[in-house]
Amino acid sequence: IIIDEEHETSYKQGSSPRYHVREVAAEMARRYRCPLVLGSATPSAESLDRCRRGTYNGVTWTRVEMPERPGHAVLPTVRIADLRREFSHGSRSMFSKPLTEGLERVVERREKAVLLHNRRGFAPFLMCRECGCVPTCNHCSTALTYHERTHTLQCHTCGSSWRVQPYPAATSRCPKCGSRYLAKMGLGTQQIEDALHQMLPDDVAIIRMDADSTRGKDAHKKLLEQFDAADCAVLLGTQMIAKGLDFPEVTLVGVVNADFALKLPDFRAGERAYDLLEQVAGRAGRGDRPGEVIIQTYLPEDPVIRAVAEHDRSIFTDYDLDQRRDALYPPFVRLVNILVWSANRDDAQNYIGRIAKLLKRRWHAAAPDFLRAGSTVPQVLGPASCVIERAKDRYRFHLLVKSPVGYHVSDDIDACLKEVGSVRGVSVSVDVDAYDLM
Ligand SMILES: [Zn+2]
Ligand SMILES: [Zn+2]
Repeated sequence: IIIDEEHETSYKQGSSPRYHVREVAAEMARRYRCPLVLGSATPSAESLDRCRRGTYNGVTWTRVEMPERPGHAVLPTVRIADLRREFSHGSRSMFSKPLTEGLERVVERREKAVLLHNRRGFAPFLMCRECGCVPTCNHCSTALTYHERTHTLQCHTCGSSWRVQPYPAATSRCPKCGSRYLAKMGLGTQQIEDALHQMLPDDVAIIRMDADSTRGKDAHKKLLEQFDAADCAVLLGTQMIAKGLDFPEVTLVGVVNADFALKLPDFRAGERAYDLLEQVAGRAGRGDRPGEVIIQTYLPEDPVIRAVAEHDRSIFTDYDLDQRRDALYPPFVRLVNILVWSANRDDAQNYIGRIAKLLKRRWHAAAPDFLRAGSTVPQVLGPASCVIERAKDRYRFHLLVKSPVGYHVSDDIDACLKEVGSVRGVSVSVDVDAYDLM
């Protein structure tokens, strides 16, 4: 069995049955005693961990590294534009000096540029524009989501909530450096397109590719053809441009703000951000001309950014693994997401509350640190409202279970759900080894 791009999250089935192709393949390989080959330039934390352990579920896992790039491809130069510095020097533009100059060079030489503006699963957050601090939940180590209506910062993992006011409120203060500029982060692709039109000469084609501009039939293909045909052009797009683009004239790749990807409220945010940045960086310099990548960020010291800049994945993976070990996330535990949704908010909330209570009773949740203490029972986090609190007029709540690897958590949850019984109009799903936590 061969699985290419094994890190791809699309291998996880989002609807029932919620299996992961990698796990099914591993089980088949084990049963039928056939080899399983997983290929990836950016392997998943789960696979790397199994290789480090050597054996997993009675099967040998081996890592084979291929350090040389195919052909004679040269790695593009990666430059980091520190937005904190730009801010403190008085710049209020969305384009840093390095990115502006990079775009000017592209125009001068009549080449092409790709600009990434990632907003996948976008959840608004607050960030200090002077030090780059993003308020994070001290129980869950994930970024807090900002809720404008209630002026709160909320953790959608454990349900904790704090009142806060962003800049320009008089009381807004960065928790780390005390700066007033604790600002809400969020720019639309449209706004960036407008700014590009203002900055670049009229004979430069600016092509925007996002969910809105690719709605029509063949729209996606037509936009790419337009980009291909132009003599000098900038392609601005969401994560949909990261993969598969192969235009040798592209000499500059810019990332408008890497922090959206870094600060998703998900423990896999770093892993996904790294994959995305690596992929998009790979769009630069595919021809004979050398490529340049410019990443704009308020977090230049983040291990993901450093790893991409130095072309050394281990800077990120070592750090990420330590983080996950400390905060108890996969591959050190198995993560189960129990999701409840209903048109009636109270019904959904009551129902998940009952599930949580039963599970906690079962696993003696009174001792918060029992997993760290080496105990062998799972831990319940939440319930909390989901990052996507409402979808298709359904109110969504979830709770997370961190289960020791090897513990048969499904049986317990199953028994618990039977005990709770079903409620009309309330749906529940149980996702073992969950990837989508939003
Ligand atoms: Zn939390
Ligand atoms: Zn600060």
